[in-house]
Amino acid sequence: MSSQTESAVPAASALPRLVLKPREERRLQAGHLWVFSNEVDTSATPLTAFAPGAHVAVRSSGDRFLGHAYVNPRTLISARLLGRDPGYPPGKSLLVHRLKVALALRQRLYAAPFYRLAYGEGDFLPGLVVDRYGDVLVAQLNTAGMEAMKSDVQEALAKVVAPRALLWKNDSPMRELEGLQRHVDAAFGDMPATVVVPEGGVDFHVPLAGGQKTGWYFDQSANRALFASHARGARVLDVFSYAGGFGLQALRAGAAAATCIDSSATALALASATADANGLDVELLEGDGFEALEALVAERRRFDAIVVDPPAFIKRKKDHGKGLAAYRRINLLAMQLLDRDGLLMSCSCSYHLAPGELVDAVQRAARHRDRFAQLIAAGCQAPDHPVHPAIDETRYLRAFLFRVTDG
Ligand code: SAH
Repeated sequence: MSSQTESAVPAASALPRLVLKPREERRLQAGHLWVFSNEVDTSATPLTAFAPGAHVAVRSSGDRFLGHAYVNPRTLISARLLGRDPGYPPGKSLLVHRLKVALALRQRLYAAPFYRLAYGEGDFLPGLVVDRYGDVLVAQLNTAGMEAMKSDVQEALAKVVAPRALLWKNDSPMRELEGLQRHVDAAFGDMPATVVVPEGGVDFHVPLAGGQKTGWYFDQSANRALFASHARGARVLDVFSYAGGFGLQALRAGAAAATCIDSSATALALASATADANGLDVELLEGDGFEALEALVAERRRFDAIVVDPPAFIKRKKDHGKGLAAYRRINLLAMQLLDRDGLLMSCSCSYHLAPGELVDAVQRAARHRDRFAQLIAAGCQAPDHPVHPAIDETRYLRAFLFRVTDG
């Protein structure tokens, strides 16, 4: 019966097939987008026959069409699905469609055009990340498959968003695993060195080509708003502050004082420029987060609201033990600096740290200091980073807000 449907759709059969082993179609059918190398029937369709980025029609062992995908024979994830409609092969038109759907979500959620426009698998655009800063875009092609579609991506973005400028920030470590070079280059237009990102009543100075990641951590926007909403009158400590996103918004929301800690002088210079331009007064401490907190403990400093937002301490599964210990240690240090009835927002962007493990790290820290912690809010990545419910890796950001009392 399926052959009847397929013969009516020549577009699908035009692509070479990638055949799965028996029963390996179930994950794709349940919604997942990845095919792992051990799931491919390599005697029927050897992976080595494909160039990185080649388009295929994925088929079950019973020859059922499962979707169009791109292949990378070098990686553990051998293929990522691009679409499930046999009559709609990968190409510019499909990208335009996906980007329009992605844009519609952001326009529904955000009043101003500052957001992650495309979040890879979460937007059914595996390997593509696009951040929007008003009329300029910063994009990342993170897989060989997306790299192979680079000109289509560029044309699709031009068509859907018509930006003034597009920057390829193709410097993520993931590219190396995919066998790609890392580089940053302008696609078109005049890319300003710095843009202003309005968030929480503050105009943030953000560098694009020279900044961290794609420039601004849009994924934390909702948690910054949550933190700021509880910061009135508080002495705020923003640990791993980057450009001061949490601390400066808290000041705008009425915090009594804010201290930002980061090891990057460039990041703190941004926080300083933003504070000056917005009439805010902030204390900046450059240095290692752990050492800076130890020094503040030694000085007997106290804060009423602390946010800890470290870089991923667990980048790979094998780093779990060491990483978990680092989360425990940094939260214990923060706990020591928290005054009576204080608020602690503890964050992690490590996918491999389970949410419960972060809650437990704070709870242990509280017990260690003989204090009582109450979880009053739980946050995740902002909605411009939509989670793919079948792909747990797309849900990576954890943020927990605790009130901590004595005894
Ligand atoms: N809270 C920020 C994002 C933080 S990203 C926001 O809302 O925008 C993590 C930050 O940790 C980066 O700015 C990085 O420079 C900093 N960092 C990395 N390792 C560090 C260390 N050992 N000590 C202090 N800061 C560190």
